[in-house]
Amino acid sequence: MKQDRVVVLGGGYAGILAAQRIAGRAPAGTRVELISDRPHFTERIRLHERVAGSAPRRIPLQRLLGRAGVTIRVGRVEGIDRSAGTVRLDGGSVPFDLALVATGSRTDWERIAGAAEHALSPCDEEAAERMAAHVASGNLAPLVVVGGGLTAVETAAELAERGHVVRLVTAGPVLPDHAPAARAYAVGVLRALGVRLREETRVAVIERDAVHLADGETIAGRAVWCGGFVPHPIAYDADLAAAPSGQILVDASLRSRSDPRSFAAGDVARVEGSAHLRMGCVTAMPMGAHAADSIVARLRGKEADAFRFRFLVQCLSLGRRQGLVQTVDPWDRALPRFFRGRTGAWIKERVCRLSVGALEWEQRLPGLYRWPRPPLQHGAPLRERLLPR
Ligand SMILES: Cc1cc2nc3c(=O)[nH]c(=O)nc-3n(C[C@H](O)[C@H](O)[C@H](O)COP(=O)(O)OP(=O)(O)OC[C@H]3O[C@@H](n4cnc5c(N)ncnc54)[C@H](O)[C@@H]3O)c2cc1C
Repeated sequence: MKQDRVVVLGGGYAGILAAQRIAGRAPAGTRVELISDRPHFTERIRLHERVAGSAPRRIPLQRLLGRAGVTIRVGRVEGIDRSAGTVRLDGGSVPFDLALVATGSRTDWERIAGAAEHALSPCDEEAAERMAAHVASGNLAPLVVVGGGLTAVETAAELAERGHVVRLVTAGPVLPDHAPAARAYAVGVLRALGVRLREETRVAVIERDAVHLADGETIAGRAVWCGGFVPHPIAYDADLAAAPSGQILVDASLRSRSDPRSFAAGDVARVEGSAHLRMGCVTAMPMGAHAADSIVARLRGKEADAFRFRFLVQCLSLGRRQGLVQTVDPWDRALPRFFRGRTGAWIKERVCRLSVGALEWEQRLPGLYRWPRPPLQHGAPLRERLLPR
């Protein structure tokens, strides 16, 4: 009997869920291996808490994958040699029959001059650990958060609540995609926490202890860059078809557009024709689960379904005591209704716990994880068959 070898690249939300699910549902004898550049899973969605002084939130990979029978290899992926069918690591290589790329994203350092050299950031684990050390060192210089999206607002609120001097500068309004009343609420909370806001203000250059604005003014303080994520560059290192964003371009079954043996999920993947699927744990986990189901279907000689997903809410914390939960339509567009205050904080905390809980439960009961999907359109075939073997 042929023993298929499935290799999952990356030990974040998408990779872990996928590896557990494949190991639990693939035909007997399938070998599943997960490669991660670190021996633990990090709760990346709590890194704004970490930079403000909370303890690191890490879980050893062995605890999440050991019981599922997934082999763990700690090493840095450098690329995929498609003709040889191997994953290239910093020390050696790993053969595969099918690969699932889930190497995620990191801080987008290149988008603004001086950020890579001088700014702090909560956006990926390395940067967050550096920032946590800076904040813990007792340096009292103001922290100038640059950005107005979810990560910037969460980080500014967290730091201000713990007594730091915080300013926030953003090129547009704060939370531009939220409903006006929700946005006004968030602005009110930030101000009440002592954050000084500069909206509609573009930053030109970041220096070590100063942020230079496009209008010529300078704000003294250490920049905290929250201007977005870039996907891991593996699409180029593996010579896979890529979207303009640099993400691996995948079809609706989450299989690479250019390599039938490679699949991708999470921040590193772009589903063709689904521009609304923003990077987020909210999409990474469903994509990881769906890619796993596509791989299992392939191993069983079956056809895979199309990935279907609908957004429900956008959750953010505003410090430890307040939160904001914006309801959205299936395409992630804000609706008028939102939850705030302690109720918002309670929902946000439950969502964070649920994501880790889902990883703990999927190992015990593979296939348990479910996500919100839009109803199939009336008259559409119940199973959208996409992936002939
Ligand atoms: C402060 C903050 C708050 C956030 N809050 C939310 C939120 O509330 N809701 C939400 O939906 N999203 C949120 N996000 C975004 C969310 O964290 C990411 O979108 C999500 O982690 C993506 O999951 P992933 O599995 O694709 O990648 P990741 O979680 O980034 O995992 C990628 C994994 O691959 C590993 N890896 C990377 N490169 C290599 C390599 N070369 N070799 C081997 N392994 C490698 C990494 O170590 C990591 O384990 C937040 C992000 C931040 C920074």
